[in-house]
Amino acid sequence: MSDVQNSLSLSKRIDSVSPSATLAVDIKAKQLKASGVDVVGFGAGEPDFPTPEPIVEAAIEAAKDPKNHRYTPTAGLPELRQAVAAKTLRDSGYDVDPSQVVITNGGKQAVYETFQVLLDPGDEVILPTPFWTSYTEVVKLAGGTPVTVFAGPEQDFIPSIDAIEAAYTPKTKAIVLNSPANPSGAVWSRAQVRVLGEWAIKRGVWVISDEIYEHIVYDGVETAHIGAVVPQVRDQLVVLNGVAKSYAMTGWRVGWLIAPEYVAKAATKLQGHLTSNVDNVAQRAALAAVSGPLTAVAQMRTAFDRRRHLIVDALNSIPGVSCNMPKGAFYALADVRDLLGKPLGSSHDSFTSSAELAGALLSQAHVAAVPGEAFGAPGYLRFSYATADELIVEGMRRLRDWVVSA
Ligand code: GLU
Repeated sequence: MSDVQNSLSLSKRIDSVSPSATLAVDIKAKQLKASGVDVVGFGAGEPDFPTPEPIVEAAIEAAKDPKNHRYTPTAGLPELRQAVAAKTLRDSGYDVDPSQVVITNGGKQAVYETFQVLLDPGDEVILPTPFWTSYTEVVKLAGGTPVTVFAGPEQDFIPSIDAIEAAYTPKTKAIVLNSPANPSGAVWSRAQVRVLGEWAIKRGVWVISDEIYEHIVYDGVETAHIGAVVPQVRDQLVVLNGVAKSYAMTGWRVGWLIAPEYVAKAATKLQGHLTSNVDNVAQRAALAAVSGPLTAVAQMRTAFDRRRHLIVDALNSIPGVSCNMPKGAFYALADVRDLLGKPLGSSHDSFTSSAELAGALLSQAHVAAVPGEAFGAPGYLRFSYATADELIVEGMRRLRDWVVSA
């Protein structure tokens, strides 16, 4: 009997991985909504705007053409790889060859493939923390060990190079740079990026630069692309990106990685056994997006900026809650440590962790936020403000009432 159970068990590899916390909150909020509960969702980071019309039109035209009903090359449509190279020159200011580009099923597959092709069991990956929730799990799936380096709001959530150096061991294979950052909204300055790049060269480690929020920055802050700031790092650099956040295209699932050619080839080999090519029609839509203007993202940024002030001001007006003004992306990471252990809500319950608090906030006040535990930042809650102004006002009213009604 026990032998049967053993052979029917799941792999240790999958058992060591947690589900995506951001998607879990989103699914729970959507289920509650479907059952008639009026939930205000600040869960998954997903622009609430429709995909810009010209991009949708390109997809409609593509869907009518039988040539797009077939496989594309595994690494993507040659035109799209070329357009991503051109877009990188336009936005990041340096040349890459289309042969370095692999089109993936969303940015997430680019993250997955990168760690699969770079890591051997036991390799360590340094993650400036708070980190995006999937990095740790994807590193573990590749047999690697995530090594977190935490920096709190007093450091604008950006660890010092001394703290990063202290985390270095001979097993360190890579460091992740995610600027603008999810979940903190931190944006690394050009000087900080330079120091990181020079450190990576000195230590001979890969830099995995997740640039998915590159266009979502505020107050004139710039996104410093490490491949431009430190050109010598390009031989050990993998850039991750995609159309999801800049063009409100989360559901289309088109991302890419840009890496030295031998790494891109290895990722293509893996993808050939994993998913083959990305949806052909979606690639045509992405081609229209990256070769078109940046006007729609500029309009969305204006709306996100207004919402950023709305939510951060509201959070800071709630007793026991404090929140730095994010410089980029569309998340507010609020410090709720002062709420722990205090009676909250009409039931006067108290909570020992931000995970418990987020659960009660959803079930009692019908406000969905992602607990900081998912990002290596217990004691914090992440609110995505890529949602309508009125929902932000209503959600913050509910949070305030829940906190002060006890
Ligand atoms: N990246 C977004 C987030 O952090 C979407 C959900 C996900 O892929 O994790 O909310």
